[in-house]
Amino acid sequence: MDRYIDSHNHMHALSWDQWELFAMTGMAGAILSCGNPHVYREIWETPPTAEDIFRFWDSPIRMARVAEEKHFMRLRCAVGVSSMTRVEGWEELIEKLPEYLDDPHVAAVGEAGLDPSQYFQLSWPLEDQARCLEAQARIAAGKGKPLILHTPTPKKSRDFLGKVAVQEEISPEEFRLHYLRRDLEIIDRAGLDPGLLVIDHVDGTIIDFVHRQTRAWCAISIGSALRPIHPDQVTKWVKEYGPGRIMLNSDHLGYRSIDFYSVPKTLRAMRRAGIPDADIRRVSFDNANGLFRLGL
Ligand SMILES: [Zn+2]
Repeated sequence: MDRYIDSHNHMHALSWDQWELFAMTGMAGAILSCGNPHVYREIWETPPTAEDIFRFWDSPIRMARVAEEKHFMRLRCAVGVSSMTRVEGWEELIEKLPEYLDDPHVAAVGEAGLDPSQYFQLSWPLEDQARCLEAQARIAAGKGKPLILHTPTPKKSRDFLGKVAVQEEISPEEFRLHYLRRDLEIIDRAGLDPGLLVIDHVDGTIIDFVHRQTRAWCAISIGSALRPIHPDQVTKWVKEYGPGRIMLNSDHLGYRSIDFYSVPKTLRAMRRAGIPDADIRRVSFDNANGLFRLGL
């Protein structure tokens, strides 16, 4: 069995048995992306407040502290204000964010990034989202910590528990590239070193752009039904772009169907396709281990 690091998931929304199952699939470590109310199977009728989000940061940090003792997995948190749910009074969170980054169990800022659609129909104007993202990128730059950039997936309201506010209808390629470019302008302005930027949820619509037009990390989320990516596709990308900047994650959460074995299946597909062990290890372990300083 291959040991791997899941560079982005929301397993704090899942149960004890599910954590045990992850550990048994070979997950040696993971980065918990905190701050998203929608990863739990809950429905909100009013926007969460800063107070709510503090709770979404604090609880996973406490869980990360005991993960090694209880489940033999090293967990670290990414804390941030996500654009996927509108947050009332996000400025208060930004004020406290630098202090959170000093916690040894907090490894990164995020996930954050512009998203035109919000959960629970609580829409959030893009200009205000942009201010929130820029503030977070500045803090990441100042602290020398990685920023996990959420790139938006076009969503259909009917697929979700609680409706999603959907604002536009353009092709997935146009949609994905448009928001990534806007994100990158903001992050660049904030002065974040590209070596500290993880562009996440990369798929076929943006992987070429990420490798050719940026120097950021390229994270691929493969465990959620929201973004079905076949293991053979990941194998092709690792062959084409090399293992240098790719890192794999599941993005496991509690509100959509997930595949517990998505990462191990992909590791086996890569081995079957003749990708060298060292390259498999880079995309599934070494790259995340180094960037997030997991020390595994
Ligand atoms: Zn996520």
